[in-house]
Amino acid sequence: MMLILAALLFVFLFLIIDWKAPYGRHNREGWGPQINAKLGWIIMESPAVIVFTIAFFIGDHYTSFVPILFLLMWQTHYIHRTYIFPLQMHSGQQHMTLLVISMGFIFNSINGYLNGSYLSTFGPEYSLDWLIDPRFIIGFLVFGVGFAINRHSDNLLRNLRKPGERDYKIPRGGFFKLVSCANYFGEIIQWYGWAIATWSLPGILFAVWTTLNLFPRARAHHIWYQDQFPDYPQHRRALIPYIY
Ligand code: NDP
Repeated sequence: MMLILAALLFVFLFLIIDWKAPYGRHNREGWGPQINAKLGWIIMESPAVIVFTIAFFIGDHYTSFVPILFLLMWQTHYIHRTYIFPLQMHSGQQHMTLLVISMGFIFNSINGYLNGSYLSTFGPEYSLDWLIDPRFIIGFLVFGVGFAINRHSDNLLRNLRKPGERDYKIPRGGFFKLVSCANYFGEIIQWYGWAIATWSLPGILFAVWTTLNLFPRARAHHIWYQDQFPDYPQHRRALIPYIY
């Protein structure tokens, strides 16, 4: 189901909305009612925290060390993304469409359930030996690198605006030297790290979903920057350093 949804999302983003999910700089009229953007983010992302936690704790392995470690990795990202990031962001867009919020809410509910229940019920009983398995070590490191790039890049974007400012500027520093959407680059790396560390079908589905979701948006952002700023750095790619 997740793969089919991901494919449908990609076709929707490509054919129907020209790669521009209607929020942030691509927000526009014609997509139904809108609500406060910060509240929208919190509602949209909350199932990733809550559904994951419930699915995890009603399962069988919730007292095992390795699943608890995965729980902490997940929540380190999602508690920040859900309850801190929206309150900190200096968004120029005050509103967000209910359609986007609803789609994100449904996705995060399914994804939270799949990943939480896999770790606690449907997946293997990860023993302590998993901590010295190369898949865990590599995945954990990749997750950490992606997490760091994502957070650092989101911070650079936030600091482009002083409170109250609404205009867009050219992001600089960190991985923005190489790509227009360094935050998306970090996010994608992070969830492939998760997929490797958990070695799970829900993990890889989430990583593929994130790629299919953020790739078109990065392309749209990149073209938008080039249109808006005549002095936009020419060597900069959209999403993947030196490649795309
Ligand atoms: P954007 O990069 O579009 O925007 C992030 C914030 O930075 C917004 O507040 C935006 O303001 C501001 N901003 C962006 N560019 C500039 C600029 N050039 N000048 C000034 N301010 C700027 O990211 P998203 O909102 O799409 O995503 C936010 C986070 O959520 C990211 O870390 C992303 O990786 C993650 N995410 C993950 C998804 C997944 O599938 N796992 C899906 C979507 C997002 P404004 O709102 O005014 O544009």
